[in-house]
Amino acid sequence: MTSRREALKKLLNSAMVVGGGGLVWGNIAKASQSSPVTLRPPGAIEENKFIQACIKCGKCVEACPYDTLKLATIGETSALGTPYFEPRKVPCYLCTNYPCTEACPSGALDLKELQKESEDKSEDKSEEINIENARMGLAVIHKESCIAFGGVQCDACYRACPLMGKAIVLDKEVNEFTQKHANLKPVVNSDYCTGCGICEQVCVVEKAAIFILPVELATGNVGDHYIRSWKENDESKLKNQKLIEEGKDTDVESAIDYLNSDEELFE
Ligand code: SF4
Ligand code: SF4
Ligand code: SF4
Repeated sequence: MTSRREALKKLLNSAMVVGGGGLVWGNIAKASQSSPVTLRPPGAIEENKFIQACIKCGKCVEACPYDTLKLATIGETSALGTPYFEPRKVPCYLCTNYPCTEACPSGALDLKELQKESEDKSEDKSEEINIENARMGLAVIHKESCIAFGGVQCDACYRACPLMGKAIVLDKEVNEFTQKHANLKPVVNSDYCTGCGICEQVCVVEKAAIFILPVELATGNVGDHYIRSWKENDESKLKNQKLIEEGKDTDVESAIDYLNSDEELFE
């Protein structure tokens, strides 16, 4: 007959197995979710769809000639088995023949994502496929640790950028301290930055002062309420406006007339 002491020991052991199992499965479940800072290969579709579409075959990783891409393993922050890259270690070198994107059999990497989006989002994308249209992320500069902002001459990121003069430009400013020299401060243009991370890799300070974040994390959104008429295509946002007062909808033409006149829109 099992003693009460043995029974208690068994119970404790089984509780530990269940507890341990819970821990392991908890880790696996966590690993299958995406980290908000994961950077995907060029041509990756929207992150949630990407995780569902990617069959974790590793063909993109095999196709990359620079060993940029890795498949996430347990313990790493990216969803288990999915490809990602860490620019400070190995950036994406923007292969003009996009071998990683082309190798993907599942649609998780899609050549259509390398076509420039037309201004009118309702139109089909019909432009030429070009690796420079990749948007793997967006370079962000931490001014306090960028030595160029601190008055030291450094243009390492600017010179390394494959879209030099477009994705990064240098902003000249008189050095406040000497009043003679110019500070050349790097500024990223989100219209052109591919998120390749070459700038992050070459940054000379201990922890890169320029680094890549996923576009959603690195950007804000003005919304449809502020329309800057001096900015190209900003007025197209008017068509998204629906002015409602006392349950009455007002069309776009009335809204434009209102903006261009002193008259009250609703009388
Ligand atoms: S574009 Fe080239 S360097 Fe960049 S991830 Fe794809 S294969 Fe690798
Ligand atoms: S080739 Fe496509 S499906 Fe295969 S691991 Fe890469 S992204 Fe996923
Ligand atoms: S700014 Fe950096 S991430 Fe953007 S295209 Fe240039 S090198 Fe690549």
